[in-house]
Amino acid sequence: MTRLERLRKLMEEQGVPAMMVMKPENRTYVSGFDGTAGIALVTETEALLLVDFRYTEQATQQAPQFQVIQTSPQPYETLVQVVRERQIGRIGFEADYLPYGQVQKLAEALRPVELLPVESVDRIRWIKDQEEQARIARAVEIADSAFAHILQYLRPGVTEQEIAIELEYFMRRQGASKPAFDTIVASGPRSALPHGRASEKVLERGDLVTLDFGAVYRGYCSDCTRTIVLGKATEEQRKIYTIVLEAQERALEALRPGVKGKDVDGVARSCIAEKGYGEHFGHGLGHSVGLAIHETPTLSTRDENVLEPGMVLTVEPGIYLPGWGGVRIEDLAVVTEDGCRVLTKAPKTLLEL
Ligand code: ZN
Ligand code: ZN
Repeated sequence: MTRLERLRKLMEEQGVPAMMVMKPENRTYVSGFDGTAGIALVTETEALLLVDFRYTEQATQQAPQFQVIQTSPQPYETLVQVVRERQIGRIGFEADYLPYGQVQKLAEALRPVELLPVESVDRIRWIKDQEEQARIARAVEIADSAFAHILQYLRPGVTEQEIAIELEYFMRRQGASKPAFDTIVASGPRSALPHGRASEKVLERGDLVTLDFGAVYRGYCSDCTRTIVLGKATEEQRKIYTIVLEAQERALEALRPGVKGKDVDGVARSCIAEKGYGEHFGHGLGHSVGLAIHETPTLSTRDENVLEPGMVLTVEPGIYLPGWGGVRIEDLAVVTEDGCRVLTKAPKTLLEL
């Protein structure tokens, strides 16, 4: 199925004859156009891309399957005109993306056309095709080589920010267009912060250092976490690390088509709980990755979605002990016909630097 066909199938299921796609990832996915503004208006027979003056040329090049229409500077004027000309009576919009105020403005401008909320349009992006998988795999390779590169910089006296900058600079040198998110470098007690963005803190001997980083390659993200120790690991550091690694590897074994996201989460969660650290693993096990860094479906206690081949998800359990530190290990994997293929190749044995 082509991407447009996927969207049209969803429209049919939802009973909407036309659909406005405005969420950047969805707009890029269906059209190929990756500018920051515009509306993809898809009907049963037409695919239109409404963009302003800044983007007409880019849209024409990137979205050959779409008819590009340049909009007037007046917001929604061209949209209203296009909808009237085609006598469209009902239009779907992305219910979990558009802010309430914007929906109201659109409804007013388009009246009497009916606006219909469509949930989870993101579903059309759940299964990654070969080209998408190849781009994600390359983004993973870039992150893997960045991890190997950064090991020589990890030593007492440098700041978390210096590490983050070197990681990001290296990834860009390897062909990444940008980091996939704000790089996390959390050392010592800060490693107990699951999302501890790199700070001015200086790395110290004995610190656990959690690095969570990713690259964007041709629009697609990667996501990797590794935790290392500066110097010789204490018994407790090694113990916590071993528990997290075992939970992570068991979850990867459980990642396969036909199981629910919450079941894979449960494998890692019970593994950590059995060892007495259940309350210190307070986030979901993983999320899908693609054009966006955090996509659905997820691996979490409440996700009932059944996994299918071609989905790309992270597996990232962690244990966080306030005041002491934390450990998280994260790989990216593709669900295959009979299990999963782990894309991340960065070493997972506890590194003592
Ligand atoms: Zn991550
Ligand atoms: Zn992640």
